[in-house]
Formats: sequence, C-alpha cells, structure tokens
Amino acid sequence: MKHNIVTFVTLTALVLSSVIFWETGFVEFVLIGIGVIYLACTAYGSSKIEANYFINSIHIGKSKGVALTFDDGPDPKTTPAILAVLKKFDVTATFFVIGKKAELYPDLLRQMDAEGHTIANHSYSHSYGIGFFSTKRLSDDIARCNEVIAAILGKTPILFRPPFGVTNPRYAAALKKNGMISVGWSLRSLDTQAKNKYQVIEKVISNIKRRDIVLLHDHLPVTADALEDIIEHCRNKRVLLEPLSKVINKDPYVKI
Ligand SMILES: [Zn+2]
Repeated sequence: MKHNIVTFVTLTALVLSSVIFWETGFVEFVLIGIGVIYLACTAYGSSKIEANYFINSIHIGKSKGVALTFDDGPDPKTTPAILAVLKKFDVTATFFVIGKKAELYPDLLRQMDAEGHTIANHSYSHSYGIGFFSTKRLSDDIARCNEVIAAILGKTPILFRPPFGVTNPRYAAALKKNGMISVGWSLRSLDTQAKNKYQVIEKVISNIKRRDIVLLHDHLPVTADALEDIIEHCRNKRVLLEPLSKVINKDPYVKI
C-alpha cells in the first residue's frame, strides 16, 4: 500500500523540516506545505482505484482476453436487455451487483448464473457515505451483499469492486476479513456520463486492447443500447471476450 509509504515519508519530512527550518522565519510555511501535499496525495489515492494507494486491486488481465464487467445492477428495466445481447453473441460477463437490488430481483441473478455469467460483490448499500463507514460497518455491508448472493445462488463471491472506485485504509481490513479480492478496471466506458450510445461505443472501441477489464453499468439504457455494437466490433477485430475470472486467473467463488 502506497499510503503507508507516503505517510512515513511525510512524517519523516515533517520531523526533518522542523529541525532544519526551526530557527528560520518560514518553518510554518514548510510544514503547512508538506501537509497540503500529503492531503493532496491522500485525496488522489482515495479517488483513483487504479493508483493502488490504499488497497491493491486487480486492474488488468493476465490472459489475452478482454473482460466485460457491469456494475450497479441488477435492474429490471435494463439488465434483461443486456443479458439478451450477451446471449445472442454467446459472451459471458461479470456483474458486480448491489446487494439490496439483488434482494429485490433474485430471478435476474438466477438468470445471470444460469447463462454462465459471474456474480460479484459491489457492496450491499452502495451508500454515498460508504467512504466514511467504520471498518466494522463496511465489513458488515460487504458481508451482507455476499449473504444475499449466497442465499439466491448457493455460492459466495470472492471478487469485489468498491462503489464509486473510492478506497480508504478501512477497505483493506474489511476485504481481508471477508476473504475478498478488489477488482478495478483498465478501461472506463464513461457510460454514466454519456449522452447517447455512440459516445459509449466510441469510448470503448477506440481504446480497447488485450487484457482490458472494461467498466460498464447494467442499470443504464445507454449501455444496453451500446452493447451490441461493442461486441460486434470486438468480433470484427478478433478481440476475445472472456470471463473476468479467466482473464485475471482467479476463482470467482469460495470453494465449497
Ligand atoms: Zn457502483
């Protein structure tokens, strides 16, 4: 974790600067400057899961294939359309589901599983305040999502994606306690910001490369609309779409 190194370097710099600049008139400015840099590093690290600042996440595959991943579902309006496209092209994907939505739409999880897709954990609450949860509350939230999935499918996920891609030191302890692995992404489709499907298609097909983990969202109509064109492009370019667990070479569920 880079956070521990940055904290150590910052504390060392504070001590050394205090000694070196103590008798000068600008010691306060030096110490405040170090503090500001530290806070900037922390803010950047918590907002960029790719930085592996607080926790180590998997961001890129090991095999040549590309994994499609969908967050924030299941959604009764859009997930069925996405499942239909995946079935049409015989592509399997991974769904990082929100526990409280999975509880409402268990049949969608059963359909995902029956059609060969992987179900992973995206927290139970997906709360906007999850970044401020205590370690215990965060761990319980993650565990509750696993319990919902296990009650529906009889399988417990190992793969977890932090909501909003935001991390902090408490995630490390919460994931360790739940025996889970954090998975980020290497290619954001930016579907949450897209005004039409063409923006999603363009963002994905102009950037996609081997070993990518693509971040999409199955609760968005624009993603459902874009998916067929994205898969067709991959087929034409001979980009192999494979399950995430194969691309990163990790078991998706706890072995019974
Ligand atoms: Zn999310």
